Amino acid sequence: MFVGIDVGGTNLKAGLVDGEGRLLAAARRPLHFSGAEAFAADLAELALQAVRQGGAAPEDLESVGIGLPGAVDGGEVVYTANIPLKHVPLERLFRQHLDIPVYLGNDADCAAVGEFFCGAGRGCRDFVVVTLGTGIGAGIILNGRLQGGAASSEAGHMAIMQGGELCNCGRRGCWERYASATALIAQTRAAMEAHPESGLHAAAEALGAVDGRTAFQAALAGDETALAVCRQYVEYLAGGTTSLINILRPEAVAIGGGVAAAPEQLLLEPLRRIVEQEAYARHGGRVTRVVRAELGNDAGIIGAAFLEKVL
Ligand SMILES: [Zn+2]
Repeated sequence: MFVGIDVGGTNLKAGLVDGEGRLLAAARRPLHFSGAEAFAADLAELALQAVRQGGAAPEDLESVGIGLPGAVDGGEVVYTANIPLKHVPLERLFRQHLDIPVYLGNDADCAAVGEFFCGAGRGCRDFVVVTLGTGIGAGIILNGRLQGGAASSEAGHMAIMQGGELCNCGRRGCWERYASATALIAQTRAAMEAHPESGLHAAAEALGAVDGRTAFQAALAGDETALAVCRQYVEYLAGGTTSLINILRPEAVAIGGGVAAAPEQLLLEPLRRIVEQEAYARHGGRVTRVVRAELGNDAGIIGAAFLEKVL
């Protein structure tokens, strides 16, 4: 059995996972960061809690995997986005509390590993998961091995618009500046400002806020402004997706993150159409399937648990 730990910006989740990828038990706690040593102790304690809840014992564990929002290098956390971990030897610190093999991974990579074994990527050898969130994360598995290593993939920072909008990374025109959930929300807000008559306003009110669902809900109700926002967003999403497909030629690309739950006819169907028209495979060769990720929030836990199989 394995434990996978998903370190989020505000919560820690640990799951006990069997060899088939079934989540047997899960434990969670809020993240209160008070230093790397205490953080490692918290993670070990949470792992043991998941083990106990699943009716197992620490001796039953083969390994623990930890997915983090940042970059890792072997047993070291190089940096994380929301937690002040910089060059922290997390594997060593963790093993002071629970001495079993520990694997570290980037969270987008873990989502890809989870989907690869238990979700949308089952049966593939070459597979990519694009996670649409605050930014865009891409987990890339080729020939059954996770790619990127220490740096993890920064596919969200390939430019789809030379000289375009300024990204947090300092470059202009990055894909995530146009096709992340954050970007979709900004595009929705801009359309609302320009079109006070649009049904986007009612949709936002019904949802309690402008979020990644607003444009899709209003578009479903037939609002023209919302439809235009969705079409433009899918164009942006397709731009980067097509480039990834042209470079990597995977068997499948799965789209994950909250935005991926949008109605099929407004997101995945038009995305597939554009990719089909634009990907190089229209000239021949392997055609990549574009699918929805299947595991939702569990992908990170299951993927972290199975990191040892793809590193
Ligand atoms: Zn960037």
